[in-house]
Amino acid sequence: MTSVLWSPIVSDLDPYIPGEQPKEGEWIKLNTNENPYAPSIHALKAIQSAAEPSLRLYPDPESEQLKRSIAHIEGLTPDQVFVGNGSDEVLAHAFFAFFQKDQPVLIPDITYSFYPVYCRLWKIDYRSIPLDDELRIRIDDYAMEASGVVFANPNAPTGRYLPLDDIERLLKRYPQSVIVVDEAYIAFGGQSASCLIENYPNLLIIRTFSKSHALAGLRVGYALGDQLLIEALNRVKNSFNSYPLDRLATAGAIAAIEDQNWLEEVASRIMKLRDDLHQALSDRGFDVIPSRANFLFVRHSRMDAAVITGHLRDKRILVRHFRLPRIENYIRISIGTADDHKALLTALDDILGRR
Ligand SMILES: *Cc1c(COP(=O)(O)O)cnc(C)c1O
Repeated sequence: MTSVLWSPIVSDLDPYIPGEQPKEGEWIKLNTNENPYAPSIHALKAIQSAAEPSLRLYPDPESEQLKRSIAHIEGLTPDQVFVGNGSDEVLAHAFFAFFQKDQPVLIPDITYSFYPVYCRLWKIDYRSIPLDDELRIRIDDYAMEASGVVFANPNAPTGRYLPLDDIERLLKRYPQSVIVVDEAYIAFGGQSASCLIENYPNLLIIRTFSKSHALAGLRVGYALGDQLLIEALNRVKNSFNSYPLDRLATAGAIAAIEDQNWLEEVASRIMKLRDDLHQALSDRGFDVIPSRANFLFVRHSRMDAAVITGHLRDKRILVRHFRLPRIENYIRISIGTADDHKALLTALDDILGRR
């Protein structure tokens, strides 16, 4: 499909395809890594309180109060924090701000599939760097001249975590390039690279409230880094949309980030459920990659991933299957509640013919 009315670049775009959000019916949704629990009650109340007549006014274009709350918890200053309408928007600004250069940006061949989409949007040259056979990022493979490196840690959809020593080696190897570490899943057992910001002005960390804080519907993401990187993001943002966060989202995000007890409680519950599900799937003949995220990436020794995904769908359970080279035999299963897992395992037993 194309039209003479379109700018030429639009015909060439190959947009990201989000996981399915069913419009009706009862589904067990283990396909888009949403948090299975309700958000902090304080966040919900703050959003309700913000629904008042001042909505007629624009929000604070700089989201100062939210930046202060994030900075306080991270031990940073507000000018080391950038906030945006979901981390997807923050990532889009980061690609625009840092990678439109002569050298390519380096991206693992298997990672968040939105990264190459931004490259096509902004006409950024990129190189795919293959993960090793165990689907790990190998830092030694990142050696060519580059405008930057981008990956998720823990990586998606593998769930594998890259230790900070490796990230530090990369930061040292590319002092003139921005290393973007997407920490969408860092709350589920990994150690954040935020402690490296002080020593590495080329490190940009991207976070989101969508997974860890159960606020995917609110659309709040942020970046942490040296103030010069943040200033670059502000320039892009203020050339694009000065008010990315509305009053409701800002109020909800502030209350959510201040409710640290909620995060600790929910993250530890999810990690326990993840480790139990890992074991249960291994017992059923799945090969399970060790995960530090709120999902598991698995393949079965006997049954095709597309077949399993289809059978689960017939039983109204959604999981994610990526038809991509090297991972076409894997399924990504988001961590759900204990009840979700019970239903999933019962369905799998049926599908794999154990009963
Ligand atoms: C979910 C996800 C995002 C997007 O988060 P939003 O804040 O909801 O836009 C970004 N990066 C990774 C790796 C993700 O899994």
